[in-house]
Amino acid sequence: METLASNVWTVEDYVAGVLAGDRAILSRAITLLESQSPLHERKAQEVLQRLLPHSGKARRIGITGVPGVGKSTFIEAFGCYLIKQGHALAVLTIDPTSRRSGGSILGDKTRMENLSREERAFIRPSPAGDSMGGVARRTRETMLLCEAAGFDLLLVESVGVGQSEVALRSMVDYFLLLLLPGAGDELQGIKRGIIEMADDILVNKADGENRTRAEQARLDQQASLACLLPATPGWKTEARLCSALTGEGIPEVWLRIEQFYAAMDPKGVIAKRRQQQAADWLDDLIHDGLQRRFDRSQRVRARFPGLREAVLRGETTAVAAAAELLAAFDRNQENTDYDHKN
Ligand code: GDP
Repeated sequence: METLASNVWTVEDYVAGVLAGDRAILSRAITLLESQSPLHERKAQEVLQRLLPHSGKARRIGITGVPGVGKSTFIEAFGCYLIKQGHALAVLTIDPTSRRSGGSILGDKTRMENLSREERAFIRPSPAGDSMGGVARRTRETMLLCEAAGFDLLLVESVGVGQSEVALRSMVDYFLLLLLPGAGDELQGIKRGIIEMADDILVNKADGENRTRAEQARLDQQASLACLLPATPGWKTEARLCSALTGEGIPEVWLRIEQFYAAMDPKGVIAKRRQQQAADWLDDLIHDGLQRRFDRSQRVRARFPGLREAVLRGETTAVAAAAELLAAFDRNQENTDYDHKN
């Protein structure tokens, strides 16, 4: 992994490099925005601000499914197919459980080997981090950088662990859910809510002995979709078959995505979705920021354990305790402002 040891790179260097589509500089810019140092953070925000007018042109596609469903095999096959069609694609992962240690990226080295050799593909593993909010934020920002670098397709993958699918849905235009043949079993790992978010469902591993079971799973899914509201108004979610291993069904996935954009774009559905996503993101950032300040506030910290105990013992109500803590937080903020002024 690149380091940011040299601080000699200016905002201008990053902006010019990313706009020129320079992979090494794009990688460095992403590392910059993943950095926790306030200096790097400020610089990264400046770079992003400058690149923002050049972002937004890519198709943003989300792919999810339980571990083992075949996401990386699918992205490898699908990605190579798209490259052959003349596209340039960035593959990003959003995974709150990922950890980086000693500068090496665990687990991701051997994934998507063929795709990683393609010149017009850029693969970046999930940013490390323990909070979903932090990981999601960096993935969103990385998407903007990749768009500014000229990629026309973004494939963003999430591991199926509940929260990450919801975060992923909130940053893509089209959301694809991969399922295993034998719906009953693996449905336990996929919450109903995830199915409701999907723009299409793909039963993977529809090859060899699995073929019949896969078709049955597809029919079951198709039947249950009839009872759900579509994830995107005006678009009918469908369940299809595919084999990431043999490549069967891969071109049809792309066809579906093209149809999705062809139908939704002129109606302004995509633009509206992106606006809503930006507004939701702003709300989330404010909530997260306020929560962090609240948790760090001296006065809150001094009172919180005692008040929590009192609520647990039934000596005070949660409403009264919350009101007291929020009042303490407000006083803390006033004092902070006062400190700043002096
Ligand atoms: P991920 O955890 O969702 O990224 O899943 P992987 O792509 O690592 O795949 C898990 C396992 O399923 C691997 O052993 C793959 O070779 C296998 N696999 C993936 N796609 C297919 C497929 O279409 N057919 C068959 N038979 N096996 C597949």
